[in-house]
Amino acid sequence: MIFDELAQAPLQPLHLPWLETAGVACAVLRLDLIDPLLSGNKWFKLQHHLLAARRQGAAGLISLGGNHSNHLHALAAAGKRFGFATAGLLRGHEQDTPTVRDLKAMGMQLHWLGFAGYRARHAVDFWAPWQARYPGWHCIAEGGGGLEGARGCAAIIEQCRAQLAALGWEDYHAWWLAAGTGTTLAGLVLAEAGAHPVHGAVAVPADHGVEQNVTALVGAHGYHLHDAARGGFAHIDSELLAFIEQTERQCGVPLEAVYTGKALLALRDQVQAGRFARGSRLVFVHTGGLQGRRGYL
Ligand SMILES: *Cc1c(COP(=O)(O)O)cnc(C)c1O
Repeated sequence: MIFDELAQAPLQPLHLPWLETAGVACAVLRLDLIDPLLSGNKWFKLQHHLLAARRQGAAGLISLGGNHSNHLHALAAAGKRFGFATAGLLRGHEQDTPTVRDLKAMGMQLHWLGFAGYRARHAVDFWAPWQARYPGWHCIAEGGGGLEGARGCAAIIEQCRAQLAALGWEDYHAWWLAAGTGTTLAGLVLAEAGAHPVHGAVAVPADHGVEQNVTALVGAHGYHLHDAARGGFAHIDSELLAFIEQTERQCGVPLEAVYTGKALLALRDQVQAGRFARGSRLVFVHTGGLQGRRGYL
């Protein structure tokens, strides 16, 4: 790999009262701590795209997202770090958010597509004008999904396994992580090949097709999906915010409200409902995304 210079994600024991009450052990794999700019699951999803761009001799990479997008943020940071130009196609009309300011500062070329323009992103001829404008650049579908994205997430498992002994764990029983498209979850399912189940806390409503997406990538086995949307994607309620604040106070792990906060709260509900036997050992993946919380926390 050309990207070995990045740090590994630390695996840390998670001490929270509701885990201790239930006799369930949990460790958190801190993808948020890999790098100040290039962090979270989006980095893993980008790796094969970056390798492909390098192989093709592409001068740059281009992708799309919203004005708080963790995906565009990671892409801009990776471009700056590894010497690719980047362009971002944004949903809606020009806005000034902390994320947008970072994208500009990291040298990403921004284009605002409006809402109708953004809705056309799945049309067959969507990329043609952008390929004409940025010849030879590598195009990445929204969110960096698909099999390329999932394959990059297999490394998440290797990083965890390499640190189990230091934690005093021989093995673990299951994974728990937030799902948006389900690509990261699919990557874990692929790499586990049935060895341990993967639980996805789905942060988007049922009509977003997460189950179909995961099934298309890895079939129907090796994972469980739990509804964690709490009223809609990026819908933030006061119980959630209180839980995030309490968790940070109790164990020092920062969460955001769109994915990781909802995922850990859904885990708490399942643990309290007795879903995991006493003595279970779980790995919670902190998928990052903390840059996106500057707008509301
Ligand atoms: C994008 C994102 C997810 C969802 O990842 P998928 O691979 O789309 O399921 C989860 N957590 C964070 C912090 C994210 O930015």
